[in-house]
Amino acid sequence: MLTDVVLEFDWKHLRELYAIALGQKAFDRSLRDGSGPEYVRKQAGLYYTHGSPCPAYDEATRRCRHYRSRLKPDSCTDFPLYLDGDTIVADLRCEAMHKDRLLAHLQNTLPTRRFSLRQHPTFPILIYIDCT
Ligand code: SF4
Repeated sequence: MLTDVVLEFDWKHLRELYAIALGQKAFDRSLRDGSGPEYVRKQAGLYYTHGSPCPAYDEATRRCRHYRSRLKPDSCTDFPLYLDGDTIVADLRCEAMHKDRLLAHLQNTLPTRRFSLRQHPTFPILIYIDCT
């Protein structure tokens, strides 16, 4: 679940993605006095969100609304898919990651190749996708 992911933002990005109506000073004050959202922490001028669903996740389509937009968090540049050598690694903590849909997409895109899934032995939130 994305509630396990920590996302990092500057103020402008946080305010836009989380649709924060307050100005920065008022928002920072709310974090200090405990009236602000519990899932946001500020440290060294940056904001970190943790423990809440990502606002970019669209329940209806089960997709990331901002994957191709400037609003996508920098920490999502590769997330939730990475390349590890010739293997694709999928991180299931992103709600928009559906391993079966991904596998079907890869298979349709490259019909001459065979794709298979295997779970990371230590971190079950990671899935390896092998291609032969
Ligand atoms: S990929 Fe999209 S839905 Fe997933 S954590 Fe990043 S912004 Fe949120």
